[in-house]
Amino acid sequence: MTDSTAAPHPLELPAPSQTAAWLEQRTTTLLAEARDAVERLKADRPTDALEAVRRWDAIELMLRNLGAPAHTFSELHPEEEARARGDEAVQQVERFRTELSLDRDLYEVFAALDPAELAGRDPLAARLLERVLRDFRRSGVNTDEATRARLAEISDRIVVVGQEFGREIRDDVRSIKVTPDRLAGMPEDWVEAHPVGEDGLVEVTTDYPDYVPFLMFADDAESRRRLMIHYLNRAWPANDARLKELVELRREYASLVGYDSWPDYDTEVKMIGSGDAVAAFIDQVSEAADASARRDVALLLERLRQDRPDAEHIDRADAAYYAEKIRRERFDVDAQQVRRYFDFTRVRDGLLDVTGRLLGLEYRPAADAVVWHPDVDAYDVHLTDTGERIGRIYLDLHPREGKYKHAAQFDLSPGVAGRQLPEGVLGCNIGRGLIEHDDVVTLFHEFGHLVHHVLAGRGPYVRFSGVATEWDFVEAPSQLLEEWAWDAEVLRTFALDADGNPIPEELVARMRTANDFGKGSDARTQMFYAALSYRLHAEPVTDVTELTKELQNAYSLYPYVDGTHMAASFGHLDGYSSGYYTYMWSLVIAKDLFSAFDRANMFDPEVARRYRDLVLAPGGQKDAADLVADFLGRPYSVDAFAAWLAE
Ligand SMILES: [Zn+2]
Repeated sequence: MTDSTAAPHPLELPAPSQTAAWLEQRTTTLLAEARDAVERLKADRPTDALEAVRRWDAIELMLRNLGAPAHTFSELHPEEEARARGDEAVQQVERFRTELSLDRDLYEVFAALDPAELAGRDPLAARLLERVLRDFRRSGVNTDEATRARLAEISDRIVVVGQEFGREIRDDVRSIKVTPDRLAGMPEDWVEAHPVGEDGLVEVTTDYPDYVPFLMFADDAESRRRLMIHYLNRAWPANDARLKELVELRREYASLVGYDSWPDYDTEVKMIGSGDAVAAFIDQVSEAADASARRDVALLLERLRQDRPDAEHIDRADAAYYAEKIRRERFDVDAQQVRRYFDFTRVRDGLLDVTGRLLGLEYRPAADAVVWHPDVDAYDVHLTDTGERIGRIYLDLHPREGKYKHAAQFDLSPGVAGRQLPEGVLGCNIGRGLIEHDDVVTLFHEFGHLVHHVLAGRGPYVRFSGVATEWDFVEAPSQLLEEWAWDAEVLRTFALDADGNPIPEELVARMRTANDFGKGSDARTQMFYAALSYRLHAEPVTDVTELTKELQNAYSLYPYVDGTHMAASFGHLDGYSSGYYTYMWSLVIAKDLFSAFDRANMFDPEVARRYRDLVLAPGGQKDAADLVADFLGRPYSVDAFAAWLAE
């Protein structure tokens, strides 16, 4: 498509000390240009649909070219001023987008155009026009003035109540106090970090660094149960009213913009497609997980009865503790033994080598790249067969002060054919020296997002560039790539101990078995959460606790514990609203995609190239369901996922 003379150049980044000024300059220039382009579009009212779509996408490109580096630097830049400037730029872009979404004059430019007329000339442009019209409709731009005022009010209120809901969960830390003898079973470093107070007692809080290991390791069942009940009552009763208000606001919003329910509004732009399909999916996964989940729980109960012979069932106060015991007693995976094989530098080079072989890519160190911190490595991405440079990636993998705390892929520049290269960043917090196998899985996962961003950056429209697919499909490519981090043959290429011995196949097999234990019961618990997130929004709810109890007993194999109110601290009800099913949905699709690969030959170039070209490269140019069907030669199904659960 592009010859070497027209090949776009990478973005020239400023020196770290100049980043804040660079962002400020970029904000002023790009926002002014975008504003000007919008005004001209409204004044000219192009009657040629193709011209209108192209001009709109050019505005989108300006906003992405500002928003992408601004967001990346707000999370990763070592200088506080650059991070603050990045945050500000992101807010300005978002405010401008909201303003455009409710601009009646702008809407009328596009409402006068016909996607069907465009379909014959440029099907992709027709798809883009449909999307633009859909966005406007979903924002309520074509409703009357009073309705638009109410919609704006609801949107603001949802933000405020959502923030209060989240703040309450963060701030409401509860705790129990126990005598030191009740810490039996806890890891030594944990006990050292929890000194005995003047009252002779040790405080254990509901924060993750206390709660998770305590439920997993503390031998004292009564203390585990006390802590769990506090944990499941965080933010209750304060968040009960907020939760009801949130779902009511969403219900009203969906109704004002013309939908039967909030789940119908929410799923219209997702792969799953409708609210009813969410309900059906939850039941389908529950059924597929049933036998496997019952096996897990039977094993846990059997182990529990060694300690408590009269136990009739097992609930969440005991489940994590006995799952951990079974992993240690039955599968004998010693983390200390495993980590000897994972040296950071070898793992990083192995990751590049494995994904390069798989996807036909070559990563060449980018000597001319300016990086924001000495820890950051930059590589140009080339196609192996033609040598063409198709993007640039930055790996920012070690922790430092002020940096983003989790692991994620960030965009630096969206790719557009012949115009600009896709550039992306991996921001992680991984140690140097020996690392955990979990870190290896994380690296493969996040790299799945990164190659998606790069490979999908060669289309004509920025709207469809990069990870521009439906939100419930986004995790499928990254979950798929995790499979390569669990394959003995793949691991042997870079998982070597200090003497150069590759990780034994038999150890990898035990690691997999230990990791697989509990997948059925976990799936059922996830479906309980998904059902709660869906049902709260699908129907009027008078008693959140009653609904929680009903759904927990129907979906989770761990029965409801009296006096608990987990919905009050279910933080995802703000961000995901009715769509908590999405994580499991992506996993179902990832397992289906993986079924096309040969597990005995994970590097099979033919399958991998087809996957690259049919699923990753199109970005958002097609619906995700069609991408998957193009690759598999059939519609997606839940069969591979069900088979994996049954394994
Ligand atoms: Zn991810």
